[in-house]
Amino acid sequence: MEKRIAVLPGDGIGKEVTNGAIAVLQAVGERFNHQFHFSFGRIGGNAVDTDGTPLPDETIALCKESDAVLLGAVGGPKWDNIAVELRPEQGLLKIRKELELYGNLRPTLYYGSLADASPLRKEIIEDIDILMVRELTGGIYFGTPRERTMRDGEPGALDTLYYSRREIERVIRTAFELASTRRKKVTSVDKANVLETSRLWREVAEEIAKEFPEVTLEHILVDNAAMQIIRNPKQFDVVVTENMFGDILSDEASVITGSLGMQPSASISENGPYLYEPIHGTAPDIAGQNLANPIGAIMSAAMMLRVSFGLTEEADAVEAAVNQVLDSGYRTGDIAFEGCKRVSTTEMIDEIKATIMDTDALLKIQNCYS
Ligand code: NAD
Repeated sequence: MEKRIAVLPGDGIGKEVTNGAIAVLQAVGERFNHQFHFSFGRIGGNAVDTDGTPLPDETIALCKESDAVLLGAVGGPKWDNIAVELRPEQGLLKIRKELELYGNLRPTLYYGSLADASPLRKEIIEDIDILMVRELTGGIYFGTPRERTMRDGEPGALDTLYYSRREIERVIRTAFELASTRRKKVTSVDKANVLETSRLWREVAEEIAKEFPEVTLEHILVDNAAMQIIRNPKQFDVVVTENMFGDILSDEASVITGSLGMQPSASISENGPYLYEPIHGTAPDIAGQNLANPIGAIMSAAMMLRVSFGLTEEADAVEAAVNQVLDSGYRTGDIAFEGCKRVSTTEMIDEIKATIMDTDALLKIQNCYS
């Protein structure tokens, strides 16, 4: 198989962790005989510095002509006080809009060897497998008007929360399609006791549910969802929610895995390339020190192999290699414990890459995880 992958490392640890995803994809290419061609584009603060915009047109063009996009993370203190339209995050919002990435899929998995890194007790998190589906191109992050206002002589600010029926329908249908291949339960999160958009959301969810009689639908208010994710995460299979609720709840769910640095994501569209990125940010506190955990980016590459390229065996191999390396005690600082083999970003990447390349070891661990 031959595929073109656009790589947008971004800022801070973005470059360090995307190097890990590339190394692993190269190992998969070598091991399974595929050709992956990588082309690099700028986004975020580095693009502001070089091009005067957080998302240059040539980056958009590069992404549109690729089979998949791999992103690191954007932002950092250097750009915290620049004009709003130049902020690195605007590059992220714009690429989502340009590629029409309407849904963000964030799996939260249980890693047995990391149980102690989670602040939650092992019996609460053991064997959890949650797939959060977050609406990504609508809601309050995109609604207009968005402005500073003056009302009754009092300065204030205004954001707009808007959803069209079509925007809600497509992301909820995706959640049901995914649930029908899993444990057949969709939990729809809203704030229908207060928000009109949530009442429409709930109405649409009920309609779509009729198309999937084998899938159970439950509704839950966002404040209760925030509590239940910590109290009893095992109750969830597929969780679908709007943009801002999903942003917050998926970071909360990441705690279960032990570290933000472990979490991958895929953003899907109706027609164009999908975008894959770890859910963490640029981690300015550890950037440039070879300390970042590259596993979120590496697992995002595994999602790319599985979802965009249909390479199931290859994706299984990457996931099995990550599990094997963790089981062997290798840890970056964020998931380290006493007595572990503490490694840098590049050492962790090398370990995972070597495990993928080692045919015998791979077969053995694939059998044990299948
Ligand atoms: P962050 O995710 O960058 O960091 C939060 C904490 O988690 C930090 O202590 C950091 O060291 C740690 N961490 C994050 N990823 C890690 C990894 N891979 N390995 C080890 N530790 C890791 O969030 P923040 O500090 O709130 O934001 C920093 C910058 O990143 C801000 O400019 C923010 O806007 C940006 N950001 C970007 C994205 C994105 O590009 N998708 C997402 C979130 C935040």
